[in-house]
Amino acid sequence: MESKVALSRCEVYDAAQLKAVVADHFEKLDIAPSFFEGKKVLIKPNLLARRSPEKAVTTHPALVQAVIELLVQYGASVIIAESPAGIYTASSLKEDYKASGFLETAEAAGAVFNYDTGVTEIHNKNGIACKSFTVLKPIEDADIIIDLCKLKTHSLTKMTCAVKNLFGLIPGTDKVEMHARFSQSTTFAHMLIDLCEAVLQQKPMISICDAILAMEGEGPGTGDPRKLNAVLTSKSPYALDLACCELVSFGNTVEMLELEKKRGLCPASAKHLEILGTPLKELQVSDFAEPKSQNLSRLIKLIPPFMKPRPVIDTSVCVGCGMCARSCPAETIVVENKKAHIGRKKCIRCFCCQELCPYKAVSIKRSLIFKWL
Ligand code: SF4
Ligand code: SF4
Repeated sequence: MESKVALSRCEVYDAAQLKAVVADHFEKLDIAPSFFEGKKVLIKPNLLARRSPEKAVTTHPALVQAVIELLVQYGASVIIAESPAGIYTASSLKEDYKASGFLETAEAAGAVFNYDTGVTEIHNKNGIACKSFTVLKPIEDADIIIDLCKLKTHSLTKMTCAVKNLFGLIPGTDKVEMHARFSQSTTFAHMLIDLCEAVLQQKPMISICDAILAMEGEGPGTGDPRKLNAVLTSKSPYALDLACCELVSFGNTVEMLELEKKRGLCPASAKHLEILGTPLKELQVSDFAEPKSQNLSRLIKLIPPFMKPRPVIDTSVCVGCGMCARSCPAETIVVENKKAHIGRKKCIRCFCCQELCPYKAVSIKRSLIFKWL
C-alpha cells in the first residue's frame, strides 16, 4: 500500500515557485520526467463553480499553470477536463474555465481544454456501492491522470480532497442522479471510493493538492478561505487525503477515510504515512472549522429525521437563479416569484443546494435539541 506523501510549505501562489515544488515532489516520489514523455496527461482540477481564485472554491490557476508547464517541459501533452456543477455543454465549460481564472494562463502554458461533452463507461467489478460509472470521454485517451484537487470542508462528506474531486468526472447533471441513488452518507462515500478505484484501474494517477488557501466551515462552495500554506503530492489519493485530514486535525471523523481504511486502501492512521519534505506537524492546525452539518455526524445517524440538520433558504438573499433546484436530486426545490422554496418532506439532506448556491442564500439549520447534543 502506498504511504508516501510529499509535503511542502508554500505561502504564495507563484507559478514559478510552485513548478519547482511539484518537480521536487515528483523526484521525492520517484516519478521520473521520462514517465511523462510522449504521454497524454489529463488534469482534473476542482472547478466546482464559477468563483474567483481568492474564494478558495477552485484549484488555484497558478498551481494549474505550474503543473502544466512542468508536464510540457517533460514532453507530455496536457488536456484539462472537468465537469463543474450544473449543465455540461461546451459553452458552459468555456464560462467555467474563464470564471475560475484558468483560460489564459493554462492555454499560455501549453494545455488544451476539453469541450467534448461525450461520455464513456468505466468499471470496478469489486465496487461495493457501484460497479459502473459514466464519465467524461477524455479519460479514454489519457495515459496518465493528474488529480489536481483543493482541500476544503464538505457539508456531506466533511472533507473534499483527492478522492472526492473525482466526482467531477461524472458529467453534468448525472451527478444529481448519483446523489439521489446514493442518498445515505455511507453509501455515497462507498460510491466515491468505488469511482476512485475504477479510475485507478484504468490509468495511473498522481494526486496533487492545493492547500495553500484551503476552505473551512461551510464548504465546499460557501465556506471561508483559510491559509494552510501547504502543497501535497502522492501516488495514492487515499494517502494524500489521510495527510490532509491530519493537517486539519480531523482525526478519524471523516467517514470516507474510515471506509478506505476498512477496505485496505489507506494506511490505518496518519502515523503510518511517510511524509517527505516538510514535517506535517509544522503545518498542522487544530482549529480548522468543520461544516455545521457534520460536526455531530455520528449522532446524526441516531437522530430522527425531523431533528436532523436541514437546509433553509434566506429568501431575502435568494435571487431565484434556480441553481439549487436544478441540482436537487430529490427535486424538492421550486422557484416561484424569484424565490426558492424547499419541500422538507422529500429532502434527503445531501446539501447540494447549500454547496452550489452562488449567493450564500442556503444555510444549514440545526434543531435546538441537535445544538444541545
Ligand atoms: S437559493 Fe441560491 S441557488 Fe437557489 S435560487 Fe436562490 S439564489 Fe439561486
Ligand atoms: S433540498 Fe437541498 S439538501 Fe434537500 S435534497 Fe434538495 S439539494 Fe439536497
